[in-house]
Amino acid sequence: MRALVISDIHGNFHALEAVLAAAPAHDAVWNLGDVVGYGARPNEVVELLRGISTLDVRGNHDRVCTGLTSSQGFNPVAAEAAAWTHGTLTDSNLEWLKAMPKGPVAVGETIVCAHGSPLHEDHYILSMRDAWAPLQRMESSIAFFGHTHVQGNFSLLENDWEEERPQYAEREAAAQQRLELRAGTKHLINPGSVGQPRDMDWRAAFAIYDDMDSSVTFHRVPYDVEAAQAAIRAAKLPERLAARLQTGR
Ligand code: ZN
Repeated sequence: MRALVISDIHGNFHALEAVLAAAPAHDAVWNLGDVVGYGARPNEVVELLRGISTLDVRGNHDRVCTGLTSSQGFNPVAAEAAAWTHGTLTDSNLEWLKAMPKGPVAVGETIVCAHGSPLHEDHYILSMRDAWAPLQRMESSIAFFGHTHVQGNFSLLENDWEEERPQYAEREAAAQQRLELRAGTKHLINPGSVGQPRDMDWRAAFAIYDDMDSSVTFHRVPYDVEAAQAAIRAAKLPERLAARLQTGR
């Protein structure tokens, strides 16, 4: 079984299309949340995802953009984008987003999917320090998570821990890096953000989980970033949201 693992699409339809075109054949699509918010094409993203995702968990932006949570904790740019998204989504897409479950959601006995952390949907796992408690406490061997928009892996085998971010030689074309999953090891794996990467790499990010050869392959793929920026500017969303896509931060 092969799953395409995607997170933090953030209404970026151009990036999602590029990811789907580049992804190798897969049997499942696991969506880790923040489908909307920031980007200018929320309806197109939701409509495409509705047809293909086999597992969804909600993100904090999905909650705020659908009115499930107030935007009080958001910075002004995020709050403005959430209000615009709320007003732009069709009723049917709003309902679909609202119905996405809170993570973690289990896939069999070995895997869970979460937005923030498997311990709390809004926690950020940016460092080994953040990863330590969930790695110790999780019962599954793998937890996929998003929320930070940073691609990478934290793993723990007894007292041996490892933190890795893919290092790509290629910075403009598509690139990939394979991670071998070792028996007895716990893994916290972030596929990176499809629609708003923040790890200094502008390319759309995703991962492929393969249970036949016990691996996760991290991918980066170029997309039409100018078109995504033009859509943000045409929607009169804050300029910062367009500018940041170019630099991946
Ligand atoms: Zn996000």
